[in-house]
Amino acid sequence: MAGRNHLYIPGPTNVPQSVLNAMNVAMEDHRSPAFPKLLKPLLEDLKKVFRTETGQCFIFPATGTAGWEVAFTNTLSPGDKVLIYRFGQFGHLWANMAKRLGLDVELHEVTWGKGIPLEHLTARLQEDTQHEIKAVLATHNETSTGVTSDIAGVRKALNSTNHPALLFVDGVSSIASIDFRMDEWGVDAAISGSQKGFMMPAGGAFLCFSQKALAMIDTAGFPRCFLDLKDQMTNNKDGYTPYTPSIPILYGLREALNLLLAEGMENVYARHYHLAEGTRRAVAAWGLNICAQAGFESNTVTAVVVPADKDARQVIATAFNKYNLSLGGGLSEVMGKVFRIGHIGDMNEISMLGAIAGAEMAMLDHGFAIKPGSGVGAALEYYRLNAQ
Ligand code: PLP
Repeated sequence: MAGRNHLYIPGPTNVPQSVLNAMNVAMEDHRSPAFPKLLKPLLEDLKKVFRTETGQCFIFPATGTAGWEVAFTNTLSPGDKVLIYRFGQFGHLWANMAKRLGLDVELHEVTWGKGIPLEHLTARLQEDTQHEIKAVLATHNETSTGVTSDIAGVRKALNSTNHPALLFVDGVSSIASIDFRMDEWGVDAAISGSQKGFMMPAGGAFLCFSQKALAMIDTAGFPRCFLDLKDQMTNNKDGYTPYTPSIPILYGLREALNLLLAEGMENVYARHYHLAEGTRRAVAAWGLNICAQAGFESNTVTAVVVPADKDARQVIATAFNKYNLSLGGGLSEVMGKVFRIGHIGDMNEISMLGAIAGAEMAMLDHGFAIKPGSGVGAALEYYRLNAQ
């Protein structure tokens, strides 16, 4: 098919040309005296994206899933109780990992489309007078439903109940795109990955730990080796890694950080809001709903709910086969019920209008009762009148 594939899944996201160019490097000796000049500034600059001065960042040649495991195994012990709310596929997988590792998972079901219920959380923490809950697991942005939770509110719930549990945040599809504040929100372990807001290929797990979490490494009872933070710390302090790093990922990260920091994190967040809001206006103009309930709307991904007599999988297939447009599918409980438009990473207004037009054409092809151009029209008016 002529023309490029238009990638609008919520990760992996489009990689800017300058990041691709930066990754196209000859391999080099990661034990050379020059290597720390690459790694040390990366670890420092990552802190600016996680918004921390007191935390410590880590880079693993892995993905977000490994980041979850790093957080568990370096701070907790088998049998420890962790609290999680399940309202999407990634929370489900995170809880599942905790279970498989032998943690005692207290799982509360929440309607898909909502996020962390702060009142329930506060009441539950209050009730836990023996402090059996060792960590609260918070999915900041549930990519499967396009739901963003209030992490400042989770911290408030912990503080107002004087609960000492660690706060783990899955920021895989939020950090570097949606407002995130490690220090201000008292996050103990923040987990992200290279292939979303960082605008890179998968292959980098980026983490940040608070001093409180780091202090638990010595007492954490899980066996660990590849994911041991102590090995990272011993080597990182001199600018090295405990095993062979992915050289292209590191050079790509250098350029991605340059781009993010040049734009400014506040501007990055504002751009993601702007692009998301235009997309939401388009969905409303189609007469459709988004999966996220009011107050939980995500600025990185919008899950569009199709009418009950339609199958979102057909829309996605037509978008791909006929229009060379990749939309995100519905996962698990929402399979066939939603398609997802990613507006994360290297995106601008015109790129979003392309995705909205393609989704609109695919829906029209499947007999959706929408007016041609309605979504595109609503989005472009929003973008035009609210240009940044
Ligand atoms: N958490 C969230 C919110 C995600 O969106 C994803 C992947 O899409 C993951 C975790 C898992 O990350 P990875 O696929 O990089 O292992």
